[in-house]
Amino acid sequence: MHPDLERLIRLQALDTQAADARKAQATIPETQQALDKKLEGAQRAVAAARDQQATNQTDRRALEKDLAALNTRLSRYKDQLMEVKTNREYTAMQHEIETVQGEIKRLEDQMLERMLEADELAAGVKAAETALKAAEHKIVKERAELDVQLAGAATTLEVTLTQRAAVVAELPASVVATYESIARGRKGVAVVAASDERCSQCQVRLRPQVFVHIRQNSGILQCDSCQRILYFVPPPAAPAQPAAPATA
Ligand SMILES: [Zn+2]
Repeated sequence: MHPDLERLIRLQALDTQAADARKAQATIPETQQALDKKLEGAQRAVAAARDQQATNQTDRRALEKDLAALNTRLSRYKDQLMEVKTNREYTAMQHEIETVQGEIKRLEDQMLERMLEADELAAGVKAAETALKAAEHKIVKERAELDVQLAGAATTLEVTLTQRAAVVAELPASVVATYESIARGRKGVAVVAASDERCSQCQVRLRPQVFVHIRQNSGILQCDSCQRILYFVPPPAAPAQPAAPATA
């Protein structure tokens, strides 16, 4: 294989690797922010469940206080009932007692409702707390894994750029200029394999005399259609050949 073609294949592989590393550097922090949002959601759910529970407790305390006041009034009325002198006073007092008893019954029903609700709310708080704990555990782990990936991407990028500079230094400036011009216009993919007499990227069929030259890997040839630099990878029947770098 022509040494410059070999270097171009390597350059492409390094640039693809660098692009992947840069993409990871851009997307990992976004993924981490999304995880933080998820955790905040679980924290808010716990806070909301606890708020509901607190409101229920406040309501119950208020009902207890009102019931105590009503019971005090009821026993006072019952005492007064013993001291009434006339039938009319007796009937009036009976009426007062019935009213208070009705009110007590109403508040006791409300209290029962609040107590049943309290059981549900306690279960809700417990479920939200369990979900939060699980989310915390999962998110802390996922975040740490992403931190490792982020650091890995930075290292990969640094190493790749050093290796790239070395490859570029070995190539004629005009070849590098051609490569970079194609890469800019073709989303970073400037060097691709040709197989089955086609450019593997744009799928255009190559002229037979061009493909003959490409098969030899003896120079820098470009696809007539997409201008990408082409190289030949022997079909899989020849296992002795090194694997071609992946092309996007
Ligand atoms: Zn092409």
